[in-house]
Amino acid sequence: MARYTGPVCKLCRREGVKLFLKGEKCFTNCTLERRPTAPGIHAQRRSRKVSDYGQQLREKQKAKRLYGILERQFRRHFEEAERRPGVTGENLLQILEMRLDNLVYRLGLADSRAQARQLVRHGHIQVNGHKVDIPSYICKPGDEVGVRENSRNNEFFKALQPELARRPVAPWMELNPDTMQGRILRMPGRDELGLDINEQLIVEYYSR
Ligand code: SF4
Repeated sequence: MARYTGPVCKLCRREGVKLFLKGEKCFTNCTLERRPTAPGIHAQRRSRKVSDYGQQLREKQKAKRLYGILERQFRRHFEEAERRPGVTGENLLQILEMRLDNLVYRLGLADSRAQARQLVRHGHIQVNGHKVDIPSYICKPGDEVGVRENSRNNEFFKALQPELARRPVAPWMELNPDTMQGRILRMPGRDELGLDINEQLIVEYYSR
């Protein structure tokens, strides 16, 4: 699947918020904190008043970039969110949170969603005891997500294991640091996500 391979700090500068795309560097040496301007030589001109459409577009782009998803897949998630009962914007965020790559990140098994996606793609992750190498695989409450037994002895996970007990895990999940197996306890609440995203603007963008 295609993916964005350009400089990721530029994406944070464009959206004007930290998207935490680079793992440890985001906490110790953030580019946005040093250069809090939009990229490009015309950045100053962009501080003009933004139209409603512009705001909706930016919010959609921000969510896509945060979760590392390209347009076609993001739209597919939106269409699924519309089909589900309830509030479409919240459904969308729940679907994005239940993606396997995001869950691996939220469990603390990866420093960033990009790294989590690579771990999934390389076949290191299992769901309910079966290997799943599709980052967009949607899990559900009760599912067990963890590192495959064969992968636990590779250098990356051996170095990670001592750190796991100290890493934060999302409140709607639990992780056993010894076995590197996690479980989804429930769907996350909107206020637990810690996201600076106005999902209503995304709904308005796709409802034009
Ligand atoms: Fe964004 Fe992280 Fe780069 Fe900061 S260091 S601009 S949060 S990707």
